[in-house]
Amino acid sequence: MVNLSSPIWQPYTQMKGAPRPIGIERGEGAVLYTNDGRTLIDAISSWWVNIHGHGHPYLADAISEQARRLEHVIFAGFTHAPAENLTRRLLEILPENQEHLFFSDNGSTAVEVAIKMAIQAQSRIQPAKTRLMALENGYHGDTFGAMSVSGRSVFTKPFNDYLFDVTKIPVPIKGHEQLAIETLKKALKADDVAAFIFEPLIQGTAGMVIYDADILSQMIKMCRDHQVLTIADEVMTGFGRTGTLFASHQLSHLPDIICLSKGLTGGSMPLAVTTVTADVYQRFLSDDPADAFFHGHSYCGNPLGCAAALASLDLLLDAKTIQQIDHISRRHKVFAERISDHKSAKHVRSLGTILAIEIEAPESGYLSRVRHTIYQHAISEGVLLRPLGNVLYTIPPYCITDAQLDRIYDVMQSTLDLFIAER
Ligand SMILES: *Cc1c(COP(=O)(O)O)cnc(C)c1O
Repeated sequence: MVNLSSPIWQPYTQMKGAPRPIGIERGEGAVLYTNDGRTLIDAISSWWVNIHGHGHPYLADAISEQARRLEHVIFAGFTHAPAENLTRRLLEILPENQEHLFFSDNGSTAVEVAIKMAIQAQSRIQPAKTRLMALENGYHGDTFGAMSVSGRSVFTKPFNDYLFDVTKIPVPIKGHEQLAIETLKKALKADDVAAFIFEPLIQGTAGMVIYDADILSQMIKMCRDHQVLTIADEVMTGFGRTGTLFASHQLSHLPDIICLSKGLTGGSMPLAVTTVTADVYQRFLSDDPADAFFHGHSYCGNPLGCAAALASLDLLLDAKTIQQIDHISRRHKVFAERISDHKSAKHVRSLGTILAIEIEAPESGYLSRVRHTIYQHAISEGVLLRPLGNVLYTIPPYCITDAQLDRIYDVMQSTLDLFIAER
């Protein structure tokens, strides 16, 4: 089974000794069908993107219809209805201070765009603001700027010398609020900070680390008082994940820049947007062409992606989906309450449609053996769970049925049982 010479180089995978990847033939709703006739419940929405489940006919129709009309067109100097309509509809539901939108094609590029916009926007201010701030242990993507503002880990190790220096602010989890505020206060005193980037309310890759909306609002306000731009990386939290359409909707002070991708197209097409306030946009307006924002991608504003995003929004804003988001959130809370007594559960938390269980295990961190044990166990039980180190979590598509959710919870529980047996 060992494939030393696989022509496909898989993401985040040590290819030496890597088991053959599981072939998927098709997907329907929350279920993936393997080539060898098994079924898997996709409890993690295929890396958090697939909010409406797989093989959704409404999304498929929208994409195929658009493909017959216009699959792509250069986006400098040209536009098209899907991009225009998507922009209008996103601005209708985004926090009210967001007024302009820049297209790219994945979460990392949405973040690169945000960082570059913030740096350039602040470069015109005197005295110069050049430094970036970020929450500790954050994850903002795998390109160099995104890695720079992310936590340093085994993932970034070969590149650490190439990453720019960023001021890290402690995550204001319960008990650490004061430390976070004090550190931020000190960092702001230097007056050289251009922008502050964070995953609002919940840090995904760090292990679904949840913190309070009030404290983040307070931190945003402090940044605003020092003319520091704030960037909410909503690549994971966008489109209903935290119980509201955007995590920023739970804030009393709004970020200047928002990054969106993952759920944007319902997991059907790669697409991303970076949205900004009128103030940020206007700082690029000038009689000098050199003041423009010189950034773009071949697939900026791809019409297929935009058509998929429009269809995904139709599905998301349907009353039934909104109800499902509430329903899943409530069920997560009930299960979290029940499972928190489990001997192997170190900490259980949920926010909206995301539920995470930190497992009491000897080693932690992404590469731990624990992760492998959990992954294999869940797969053999017909559920796709891909833990972050010793953090077992689910972030299911909104179309998940009660029976499927029960199955996910059962497998999570039997995973925890495994660790009692082991000790
Ligand atoms: C996944 C993720 C990214 C990176 O998105 P990609 O599409 O994988 O490049 C950035 N920020 C957050 C918060 C994410 O969860």
